[in-house]
Formats: sequence, C-alpha cells, structure tokens
Amino acid sequence: MAQHTLSGLPDIPIILRRSARAKRISLRVSGLDGRVTLTLPLGLAEQDGLDFAMQKLDWLRHQIEQKIDIQPVKAGASVPVEGRLRWVQPAAGRKVVLCEDQIQVPGSVDQLGVKLRGYLRALARDRLAAASDGYAAQLGRDYHRLTLRDTRSRWGSCSSQGALMYSWRLIMAPPDVLQYVAAHEIAHLSEMNHAPAFWALVGDLYGDYAPARSWLKENGAGLHNFRFGD
Ligand SMILES: [Zn+2]
Repeated sequence: MAQHTLSGLPDIPIILRRSARAKRISLRVSGLDGRVTLTLPLGLAEQDGLDFAMQKLDWLRHQIEQKIDIQPVKAGASVPVEGRLRWVQPAAGRKVVLCEDQIQVPGSVDQLGVKLRGYLRALARDRLAAASDGYAAQLGRDYHRLTLRDTRSRWGSCSSQGALMYSWRLIMAPPDVLQYVAAHEIAHLSEMNHAPAFWALVGDLYGDYAPARSWLKENGAGLHNFRFGD
C-alpha cells in the first residue's frame, strides 16, 4: 500500500493497493471517512492507475461529498462552538456575537462562512494560548511560539524548539478536549516521545485524559466536515 495525493482544490489523498485478483483498475470511496482506495492489477504501472484516478476527479469529489456528509456553513446551519451546537444567524452590527444557542454573524450573507471562520480561529487562538500558558506554568517550562493550522493529520504538535502548532478546529470540540490537546503538546516540552513517562506527565497536568482521547477518535474527523466557504 502506498499513499498518493491527487492535487486539486482540495487535494484528495489516495491509497494505492495492488491485487493479484483485480482484473482492472478500481476506485473505492469509504463510507466511513471518505478515504479513497485505488486498486491496480499486478502488471499495471502505477502512473496508469493515477492517470485513471485523475480522469475521475469530479466523480470522486462528488462521491466523497456524499459519503462524508459535508456541512456547508451558511445562514441557518448549525456549527459546534466549544462543544455546543449553535445556530448560525445573519445579523446587523460589526462583531460576531456568540450566544448560548446561536452565533450572530454580521456582514454580507455570502461571506458569512469566511467571517465565522475568522472569528473561530481568533477564539481558538485565545483559548489555546490560555491553556498552553497554564500548562507551561504548571510544568515550569516555556514554549517558543504558537501557530494555528487546518491540518487533517494531527490536532497539535510541539517541535524540539518548543514551537506549538494546533488545529484551529479544536475550538469546535468540547473545552475539555481542547485542554487535553494543549496539555499533551506542553508535556512534549519535557518528553519528546509517547513513552509511559510522557503519558504520566499528561496525567499529572491534565488528569484522566482517556475520555478526551476517545472523543477525538470518535468525533474528531467530523469537525473537518464543516466547510466555511473557502
Ligand atoms: Zn504527541
């Protein structure tokens, strides 16, 4: 098995599989997570398979969208913020206002998703910086800087220079989950591995992290289904 990427907007990761039984090229989209598998008969060149997949790009996109339940963020949609679903409402004024059951977004309706994403990123930075500062103080270490990204592959990372990276989409998860990811990355300032000593440290900083980990495992991928119109 090999991992490839069909470039486009957005890129589609694709898993290449060889099969002795396959008589022809086939493409399959997983109903679980939208993952694409390309199966090739043994004798066929890899490039021929990838060319085939490229020709089917529009079909693939359509399949993925159908299977992974893409949720466009627009007026009237619901988006989780800090673990609670909020109804997205167009509004007057200049500031985004977060209420208990709704989130009011001013400005033109077709820019609503982009505007809301800007707000959520800022909120994510705020919460992740506060959580990181708290755990860093608890640990007695400093981190170097904090950046936000929109990565599918990981929720956070910590470099050996102490640079933290987080997915801004964590702001959609329950606050405990965001806290756990911050504690996890801060613990890497002391332990650059996932050995038992690392997990013991996460436990000291955060407490029982099992529920937060399983929340991410079960629900994390779903946070990527919200499309903010970019
Ligand atoms: Zn880690």
